[in-house]
Amino acid sequence: RTFDEMPLDVNLKANLHKKGYQTPSQIQDETLEPLLDGRDLMGVANTGTGKTAAFLIPIVQRLMKDKAPMNALIIVPTRELALQVETEFKSLVHGLGLFASSFIGGTSVGKDLAQLRRKNHIIIGTPGRLKDLMDRKALRLDKIPVLVLDEFDRMLDMGFVNDIKRIVGDMTSRSQTMLFSATVDKSQKSLISTILTNPVEVKV
Ligand code: AMP
Repeated sequence: RTFDEMPLDVNLKANLHKKGYQTPSQIQDETLEPLLDGRDLMGVANTGTGKTAAFLIPIVQRLMKDKAPMNALIIVPTRELALQVETEFKSLVHGLGLFASSFIGGTSVGKDLAQLRRKNHIIIGTPGRLKDLMDRKALRLDKIPVLVLDEFDRMLDMGFVNDIKRIVGDMTSRSQTMLFSATVDKSQKSLISTILTNPVEVKV
């Protein structure tokens, strides 16, 4: 099936078309409906599978109905990935009045503080900088419903486990979580089971 046959807003479909996306990748095809239904997701997927659009398309679809600010927090291990996610989001929401900001290490915190005062529908960031902004009370997570943990295994390898636990703990209104990892070993399973509720599991 093509994106045109999927239950998506016409403006989002137009942006997908402009990007040259006609048919969903396997992970996008298998996860769209459960994610639109609000299910949690355990996605075992590498870069190159289209995982970024797999989590962004349902987020954008939800935002088309209700342009509520601070709808999703997307946590990624590196600055490069944060900027890739931001670029992908911007192309999906081109002309739709939806906004994203990224918060990453190695940039001015002053600029982040100004950015946080603007309208943001989604927030993208690396764990260390997000924690810094939370410590400064500039970023509050208690009203954000959707969490994405991208490249979870890599974030654990980089030593971000406590930051992730703190962020998850602060998201007291969290109703949907999508977790992506290239590998899932036994040591991660118990932590994952505290984060996800009855997830759909997709391995590509
Ligand atoms: P990702 O795995 O999210 O890093 O995406 C890998 C590449 O696939 C990126 O260059 C995307 O722009 C591209 N891509 C993602 N979904 C689709 C799609 N449905 N059709 C064509 N290209 C896509």
